[in-house]
Amino acid sequence: MDDAERALRGDIVRACQTMDRRGINQGTSGNISVRWKDGLLITPSGLAYDTMAPEDIIFLDMDGTATGPHNPSSEWRFHRDILRDRSNFNAVVHAHPTYCTAVSITNRDVPAVHYMIAAAGGPTVRCAPYATFGTEELSANALAALEGRSACLLANHGLIACGPSLAKATWLAEEMETLCKQYAVALQIGKPVVLSDEEIAHVKEKFKGYGPKRKDQG
Ligand code: 13P
Ligand code: ZN
Repeated sequence: MDDAERALRGDIVRACQTMDRRGINQGTSGNISVRWKDGLLITPSGLAYDTMAPEDIIFLDMDGTATGPHNPSSEWRFHRDILRDRSNFNAVVHAHPTYCTAVSITNRDVPAVHYMIAAAGGPTVRCAPYATFGTEELSANALAALEGRSACLLANHGLIACGPSLAKATWLAEEMETLCKQYAVALQIGKPVVLSDEEIAHVKEKFKGYGPKRKDQG
């Protein structure tokens, strides 16, 4: 294993532990993958994050052949399928955060109740129909729900967030949990007002120029 691979494996372990600490995940739920060479590095199945080490991360070919000391995550199919079919993504985060999961239990798409939904690519975050964890059916449902989006809910299960980097995918997972928390609270106090598709398209454009910039660099 070269230095770059070792560093990436360390990043994956740290991202899992950070998600646990921030309440995005609990126990051994959830999993992370990052594109690597002609396949992906993915968390092992059922291993507690606080004891996970870089050597525990599994390499998976795009044909699904695993190399490593454990079985790959039971959700390796949707990780592999997303990274195979969506070349703009290099990282996939799956978790069972409480508010995303609560909304998914109502089997509904998240509407544009806050402009931050644009960070996931459009005016809704779709909820993929339920299928048993680890199945090809769940992977197919997730891929369809991710069309034109970088996040989706999985009915009665949780969240998938993807990104061009592991940092962006974990950031999006946290944003989606905040969005679902805001939506769930708003539903308790009244009828949420939904922003128009045009406004979300406008925000998406505006995001392209958003971020800290030094004034002396234009
Ligand atoms: P793994 O421990 O196999 O990654 O599974 C956790 C999970 O969230 C299944 O959906
Ligand atoms: Zn899961």
